[in-house]
Amino acid sequence: MSRRPTTTRTFWGIWSCTSCDKTSISGELKACPACGNPREKDELAAVKLGRAVDPTTGRVLADDAIRDPQKLSDALAGPDWSCTACGSGNRAGALNCKKCGGPNELVVAAAHMVYDFAARRVAPEAERESRPSSSSSSPPKLPPPRLPPDLEPDGEAPRGRPAWFAAALGTLTVLVGTPLLLLAGYGLWWAFQTHDANGVVTGLRWEQRIYVDNWQVVTKEDWRDSLSLQPTVFPKDGKGEQGGVDNIRSCRDKWHHDRRYACGTTRECRPATRQVKDGETCQQRCSTRSNGNGSFTETCRDVCSPRYRSESYTSCKDETKYCTEAVTKKWCSYDTWVWNEVDKKVLSGTDDDPRWPTVTLGPLDRLRRDADYRVDVAYTDAGEAAETYTSSSTEAEFRTWHKGDPAIVAIFNLGAVADVRHPASVERDRVAP
Ligand SMILES: [Zn+2]
Ligand SMILES: [Zn+2]
Repeated sequence: MSRRPTTTRTFWGIWSCTSCDKTSISGELKACPACGNPREKDELAAVKLGRAVDPTTGRVLADDAIRDPQKLSDALAGPDWSCTACGSGNRAGALNCKKCGGPNELVVAAAHMVYDFAARRVAPEAERESRPSSSSSSPPKLPPPRLPPDLEPDGEAPRGRPAWFAAALGTLTVLVGTPLLLLAGYGLWWAFQTHDANGVVTGLRWEQRIYVDNWQVVTKEDWRDSLSLQPTVFPKDGKGEQGGVDNIRSCRDKWHHDRRYACGTTRECRPATRQVKDGETCQQRCSTRSNGNGSFTETCRDVCSPRYRSESYTSCKDETKYCTEAVTKKWCSYDTWVWNEVDKKVLSGTDDDPRWPTVTLGPLDRLRRDADYRVDVAYTDAGEAAETYTSSSTEAEFRTWHKGDPAIVAIFNLGAVADVRHPASVERDRVAP
């Protein structure tokens, strides 16, 4: 749809005489046709358009616009002025009241306004627009008073199931849920409770191991840029050593990583769609304003918004291509000193007197130990014979166990052995000395 030109139409309004109650008097008449009283200021202010208006476009539906050129000129001449002496309404251009001959005060005021606007370089058109038109302006519409949300009528109580349902559900939850929870809690507690069974030590096993490390030079390899010469510090009594870096040699190129870099572009094309402008959609919008003299002028203009359609096209762009290349670095041999295990000796037994194997250490040697200690126990739980064992973490702890000694085996209610310990009397003896 193409844009229609802006159109204006001017209509006479209607007014009511307050002196004789005659209504629907044409705005063209400045005096009441029934009683002859001139139209006064408040009667002019109450002039209505009196015609049906299209609610969507705002267009006046009547087709009786003023066509007579002289009448149209009068209607567009500007607001009537009210005689300060007798109250009669007079045409905008009249210099004196047609009833009593009094002067047009507005002409005097307008002269000042023209002077002011000229000084501010405002177009004469704007002057006419901004002249106070007392007749048509209706008071600004205020939104209806609204109560604060907490004082709103109580029409939106939360909907849902009745209260007795929630109460019954709660009771049921308590009646069924509480015993279940208690039962589950008791079950968990019971499973982790232990009971004691009497046992006897049936066997002892120990194994003690000694490792001998020697401080010696070795050849290692590393990236050249992470190597720097460092002195070797030799151990004193097997401690305080530092391997050092010495005799860096035999460096050669070796792959370190792949580098990715831009190496030209490739043109990539794929089908795509885009929105293109395809004319516009227009709607007529009309507004009507009072001319302040018993007439109204309607202005209609098209308000348009662009319309779009989808269009297929081929989208092409240059995409960066990437290549990789190998980056090499120098890889070198060097000397350093490390501990190397050179000997291991083991002694084991089934008695209660563990012993360490004997080794001879050189000046650049050091010694490491470790060991396993195990105490086998036979016991009777609920009339059934069973066997278990406990591991000692230290030699001193192992030495507190002797073959034939009584032992207490703590057993979880589910059956697994929790702990093996000495009877209370033996514990006291162990702590006493
Ligand atoms: Zn009248
Ligand atoms: Zn007058």
